[in-house]
Amino acid sequence: MKGIRIQLTVVTMLVLSMVLTGCVRRENDQYTKKAPKEKPLAIVIHGGAGTILKENMTPEREKAYTDILTEVLQAGYEILEQGGSSLDAVEGAIRIMEDSPLFNAGKGAVFTNQGKNELDASIMDGATLQAGAVTSVTIIKNPITAARLVMTDSKHVLLAGRGAELFAGEHGLETVDPDYFFTQRRWDSLLKAKERDRSSNAASREEKFGTVGVVALDKDGNLAAGTSTGGLTNKLYGRVGDSPIIGAGSYANNKTCAVSGTGQGEYFMRNLVAYDVSVWMEHEGMSAQQAADKVIQEKLTELGGTGGVIVLDKDGNVAMSFNTEGMYRGFIVGDGVPHVSIYGEAPPSG
Ligand code: ASP
Repeated sequence: MKGIRIQLTVVTMLVLSMVLTGCVRRENDQYTKKAPKEKPLAIVIHGGAGTILKENMTPEREKAYTDILTEVLQAGYEILEQGGSSLDAVEGAIRIMEDSPLFNAGKGAVFTNQGKNELDASIMDGATLQAGAVTSVTIIKNPITAARLVMTDSKHVLLAGRGAELFAGEHGLETVDPDYFFTQRRWDSLLKAKERDRSSNAASREEKFGTVGVVALDKDGNLAAGTSTGGLTNKLYGRVGDSPIIGAGSYANNKTCAVSGTGQGEYFMRNLVAYDVSVWMEHEGMSAQQAADKVIQEKLTELGGTGGVIVLDKDGNVAMSFNTEGMYRGFIVGDGVPHVSIYGEAPPSG
């Protein structure tokens, strides 16, 4: 009996020491993951914020969004895994969303008051602080690619309308007939918005947004951000929102973070929302989540604006903040596993 007990004690001690070493090793692994030299590959996406409520969603529609958000995350992450830059991942992921009718960007863009589609996009490189954007374009199939081209192949940051289209054409980008952007769903939204205007229900707002945005961190530790949109349903001709405005809709800086926003552009422009998130991090030492909450939950909300941001900091920490009912969103950090969500907590009352 005594012999058996001693053996058991030895075995117990062995098991205990293995468990303990294991724990220590796991903790160390976690620690080194956060160390600056071993930044994870990371991608974060949004597909717009707004009145996105589970009770208004059919299971089919919910699945369609979950599937495409997952597909976009995986495609973007694969670009990073294959050694692509964060700019490549941002552009590649946004192109997929622009080609999908589910989002208010590219193919699914909303209509202006005059029944046209006027698209905006921007992209920014966190390593060089270079940026490019296009606004009010009507025939460029993938505005995000045009934005990147403005950054790399022109000495400007923002090209508008016909000039941007000429520039895109000269550089061999795919152009389409404006009818390409027609979708029945967005047309119906325009008719509804006009009806609301007529019944002078000024307080009512567009039910969903649907702008898309991506931020990414690549193997060299470089951040990039991009945003693409059709703007707001029933917007006036020539209206420019925040999405093509660097610092308002998109911002990236390797010193701090990459940000893409979605919501009522006028508020995002007046608050320079994307840049503001970076500023709170740089000057007040806030974490990405603290800065995002400061800008969205406090500043934007106090001014009466609605929307949200996705943020990726220079070490691969993800933050999201929105004051709407939901935001299509997702991320992959380091392990290749996609995380997708749609709904959120109820916004603060008021
Ligand atoms: N921010 C976009 C705009 O105002 C709209 C959106 O995000 O849905 O143009």
